[in-house]
Amino acid sequence: MRKIIVATGNEHKMQELRQMLDGLEVELISMKEAGITADIVENGTTFEENAKIKAKTISKLTGEIVIADDSGLEIDYLGGEPGIYSARYMGEDTSYEVKNQNLIDRVKDAVGEERSARFVCAMVAVLPDGKVLTTRGTIEGVIAKEPVGENGFGYDPIVYVPEYGMTTAQMSSEQKNAISHRGKAMRALKEALKKELEG
Ligand code: IMP
Repeated sequence: MRKIIVATGNEHKMQELRQMLDGLEVELISMKEAGITADIVENGTTFEENAKIKAKTISKLTGEIVIADDSGLEIDYLGGEPGIYSARYMGEDTSYEVKNQNLIDRVKDAVGEERSARFVCAMVAVLPDGKVLTTRGTIEGVIAKEPVGENGFGYDPIVYVPEYGMTTAQMSSEQKNAISHRGKAMRALKEALKKELEG
């Protein structure tokens, strides 16, 4: 079976990927499982660039297909912040309780559509011949007036999705996977990979 290395140390992402790539004749292996350690400097200026930097770095160390993603929250009122700095916003060690309250405070004067925001996920696969496949998924919402919901992680409690009448932290994981930025990007990547692997 074809091996695919996933450029992440995050077990949650591995599980999601395994679920979504079910049906493709591939074996997904995390960097840890592959025994790869790499200090990757994510110095790109877009989600796509950062995902590509991660995937290319690991690709150079292995001969296998490598998948990487990069994701974050874009708030229009804040000029797209925290964007590619979502994980690093206010420092990696700052709790999301604090980060979320800070963002709510920064958009307190925004009303209605001015509060628009989206989760973005870029996914990249680098093939052994160096070919790069890139996909992007988004989910649109508005910044909530206060954090709501216990599910998910990170900025989920402050992203209210009007279409569903709830924040992404109030969705079950199945519901979120079905409509999320990561779910959309992964499904698109699955199709692109399928074409490459199965012709
Ligand atoms: P990455 O692991 O480098 O892609 O960092 C993504 C960061 O964006 C996370 O640490 C979160 O802060 C934020 N983020 C991305 N996707 C989500 C999501 O589905 N819910 C909440 N926060 C997210």
